[in-house]
Amino acid sequence: MEEIIRAIAQKTDSKIVLVVLDGLGDLPVEGKTPLEAARTPTLDELAGNSALGLLDPIARGITPGSGPGHLGLFGYDPLQYEVGRGVLEALGIGLDLEPEDVAVRGNFATVDENGVLTDRRAGRLPTDENKRICAKLQRQIRKIEDVSVQIEPVMDHRFALVLRGPGLGSGVADTDPQKTGLKPLPVTAVAQDRGSRKTARIAERFVFQAMAVLKDEVKANAVLLRGFGKLPKIPKLQELYKLTPAVIAGYPMYRGLARLIGMEILPLELGDERLEEKMRLLREHWERFDFFFIHIKRTDSAGEDGNFSRKVELIEEFDAHLPEILALEPDVLAITADHSTPVPLRSHSWHPVPLLLHSRYIWPGGSDQRFTERACRRGGLGRFRAVELMPELLAHALKLQKFGA
Ligand code: ZN
Repeated sequence: MEEIIRAIAQKTDSKIVLVVLDGLGDLPVEGKTPLEAARTPTLDELAGNSALGLLDPIARGITPGSGPGHLGLFGYDPLQYEVGRGVLEALGIGLDLEPEDVAVRGNFATVDENGVLTDRRAGRLPTDENKRICAKLQRQIRKIEDVSVQIEPVMDHRFALVLRGPGLGSGVADTDPQKTGLKPLPVTAVAQDRGSRKTARIAERFVFQAMAVLKDEVKANAVLLRGFGKLPKIPKLQELYKLTPAVIAGYPMYRGLARLIGMEILPLELGDERLEEKMRLLREHWERFDFFFIHIKRTDSAGEDGNFSRKVELIEEFDAHLPEILALEPDVLAITADHSTPVPLRSHSWHPVPLLLHSRYIWPGGSDQRFTERACRRGGLGRFRAVELMPELLAHALKLQKFGA
């Protein structure tokens, strides 16, 4: 499929906007989902003039992480492409990775005098503290054997670690035991190649040295390492679809993923989730790009907190800003999610996600159609895998030529 799309994609002036409300899909609580309970006059009107459907982010029954959930939306089969979280985090804060580098996602954490974890997030360390501690670590640890070590703050308690040197592999397991009351796991290679064993050895020494540097810190006196990975071989949206794409996202990992597949990161401060800022960026850069990915994070957080009314509020807030997108008259507008984060589950889930597709060339649903999970189940687009969404968007933007004579 990828090869076919690559062959028939053409450059045009038409513009596509893809809005991802992270974790939007939900389940009814007292009879209604957050989308059903929200007051959304603009979305309601748009839904009447749009086609609806359901997307399976990866495959039926599979609960996606946000990374694979987004890869699917951009047309990359998440079962084929695997991207380490460390790579996304590093790219998302603007670090440049070489093909041989290993990138890791680090957490500062708190351990007691016996080395047992008491807080996996070091009290959700303020970002300023994070910067101070990263600088302190970097002053003390620059090189281990023949491998240079780069430590960069991300947000809150998270940092990025980049190992650069010959012969490193990425088959290394996380050291985060995922709960408190346990000691951090030793660094171990899960792949038995020499490179992965080398990376594990370097990382183990990094942890040991970092613990020594951090021993007087009250909260951030330990590090947890996760998501060891190398830059994957993945074609860019420019090559696949002849797009000139941009991303508007506040969180590092989404920016990282977007950058990996060729999107330009529009200048937004890390962690900035204000919709007015995102809309301002969209307007300011409207002329320069033909594909915009707008990521909205907080709907997912509300789902993970089990906070129904908050999720409703956030959907209403998006509805209030939606006219700013419509005013630009994109040729194709899609509104969907990377996965469901249902309030009753307080976590990501396997449920299909609602999809709204607006273009000139659809069967409109009619004025009584709202954008809800139930309406999407009945919608004209049916239910399909997210990896097939991009061809739909491109076709509706008249960016795909006829296949065959
Ligand atoms: Zn997500």
